[in-house]
Amino acid sequence: QFESVGFIGLGNMGYRMANNLMKAGYKLTVHDINFDVMKTFFDMGVATKETPFEVGETSDIVITMLPSSSHVLDVYNGPNGLLQGGNILRPRILIDSSTVDPQTSRNISAAVSNCSLKEKKDLWENPVMLDAPVSGGVVAAETGTLTFMVGGSEDAYLAAKPLFLSMGRNSIYCGGAGNGSAAKICNNLALAVSMLGVSEALVLGQSLGIAASTLTKIFNSSSARCWSSDSYNPVPGVMEGVPSSHNYGGGFASKLMAKDLNLASESAKQVGLKCPLTSQAREIYTKLCKDGHETQDFSCVFRHYYSGKDE
Ligand code: NAD
Repeated sequence: QFESVGFIGLGNMGYRMANNLMKAGYKLTVHDINFDVMKTFFDMGVATKETPFEVGETSDIVITMLPSSSHVLDVYNGPNGLLQGGNILRPRILIDSSTVDPQTSRNISAAVSNCSLKEKKDLWENPVMLDAPVSGGVVAAETGTLTFMVGGSEDAYLAAKPLFLSMGRNSIYCGGAGNGSAAKICNNLALAVSMLGVSEALVLGQSLGIAASTLTKIFNSSSARCWSSDSYNPVPGVMEGVPSSHNYGGGFASKLMAKDLNLASESAKQVGLKCPLTSQAREIYTKLCKDGHETQDFSCVFRHYYSGKDE
């Protein structure tokens, strides 16, 4: 149904997602403010455009994969942004896969629905925006095994599903606009807290004389088992092939986790909910970044307990 796909934001994630769309046979047009990555795509024979607006002008569907809310707002509403066409859009669906706060997704979705389509086709009366953040890091982006959490119109979700499945293994429809973004920040909040819980328990266990590998075996066959203990263990040497065994290199940067906890914290404030663990996790990950570990994988929070230990 959608042949020409625009892709904006070709960083660690977007670069790989765009490649998988190409492999699936979609005709791509791309844009990024990074000239080097634009040149790489140009050299691969992909159409490159200097502005988001120009990408929109040649695409049935546009995907954005940008660092944060301010970048997404810039690409949609800024000068030469996707919505700068006098409110008449060529793309029928705009998908934002960046991790942003639900309110930003809802505001952009409302602005997109108020536009009209350059060319009405089938049942499409107006363009539609979907918030579709992802779970899974650069490896899942590379291997096309991401999970998409999608908010917005269900018809648009079903129409865009083949694209999601060209870049991911799962896509889950979450309900109205902003619900994909809400799902993503809640997932990462639970992950941040579970990583802290597992790290804290393993540090205490080690201090009481139990080897981390033994305690991990116990967790993994007991009620403490979780992804942070059985798939992404934070203690160096307990598991192979995870960031903790490579000096916390690669993986999911602490600064991205701190960003997502800020989004969770702000969202909790907006709905008047007290979330003490969110606040504490946010403080810990923010301190980790200030201490110079912002580009290391978030599981390096394990070491934070030793840096705070009484002599
Ligand atoms: P990144 O910083 O590597 O890439 C972002 C890209 O956007 C860069 O190439 C940058 O040049 C481009 N960009 C920035 N502003 C722009 C603008 N105004 N116009 C055009 N291009 C612009 O980030 P990433 O790691 O690819 O992450 C992207 C999003 O995915 C983030 O919201 C992140 O939280 C989320 N995410 C990341 C991971 C991960 O493991 N890296 C996992 C899940 C979700």
